[in-house]
Amino acid sequence: MTENSKNEEESELIDEIEEAKQDKEINDAKTDAEEPKAKFTFKCTRCDKCCQNRGPIPITFWDLELWARNGVVANFLPYMDIYSKPDGGIDLVLKPLPPPPKEGEEEKPKDPFGAVPIEDLLEVKCPLYNKEKNECLVYDNRPLSCRTYPLEYDGKNFTVVDVECPGIGEEGMTKDDLKEMRDTAKQMFYELTRMRIALPVLSQLISQKVMMDLMRQNMEAMSKMSEEDRSKLDEILKKDQEPSSE
Ligand code: SF4
Ligand code: SF4
Repeated sequence: MTENSKNEEESELIDEIEEAKQDKEINDAKTDAEEPKAKFTFKCTRCDKCCQNRGPIPITFWDLELWARNGVVANFLPYMDIYSKPDGGIDLVLKPLPPPPKEGEEEKPKDPFGAVPIEDLLEVKCPLYNKEKNECLVYDNRPLSCRTYPLEYDGKNFTVVDVECPGIGEEGMTKDDLKEMRDTAKQMFYELTRMRIALPVLSQLISQKVMMDLMRQNMEAMSKMSEEDRSKLDEILKKDQEPSSE
């Protein structure tokens, strides 16, 4: 190889390296500019739409522990109830309040333990939402379920439970925000599972205890009755057991 052709080859190689460098820089710049967007982006707009039609909100041990730490459990008690679900399971929930009476209807007392079956309140506002002020009355103590809404996790997959939520698609969600939201949804799933395992057992034990206490009280009351009162009671019970003549 002559000295000239050697120099030419070296200069071509340098050019190729330079070209490759430039290509890499362009590609790197492209990658920075075109950072792949997360498929799911969300930022709560605080429109409070979900607070107005969420129905029963499941409560977990996480919520009870938070409220106990903050000394506010008693504030939530009037709004809590046990919800027997159509699939046979039970949940501890924040029971929604019955809707306001329609025009001409008589105003019913706003009793959270009122006669309206919880199944009829599935799309009714949360009892802790103040419609006049458009705000959650317990925002700092809001349940875990409200913190993860509208994302849910079922042990395998994440699901958006409310595609109408105005926060979906809002820009501004970072990777860390997404991770936090997914972690909260997972935590909700585990906490709810924990509650669903414990609740039937606790409920069974409590009803047994209440039943035994009631039976003991009745037996004590009967043992204190006079002979005359006892025979009167026997007569009443006999009458109740006789088949109706109608
Ligand atoms: S979660 Fe959605 S519906 Fe609820 S307040 Fe935020 S943006 Fe509105
Ligand atoms: S507790 Fe607060 S954030 Fe949760 S649904 Fe009720 S009003 Fe909305």
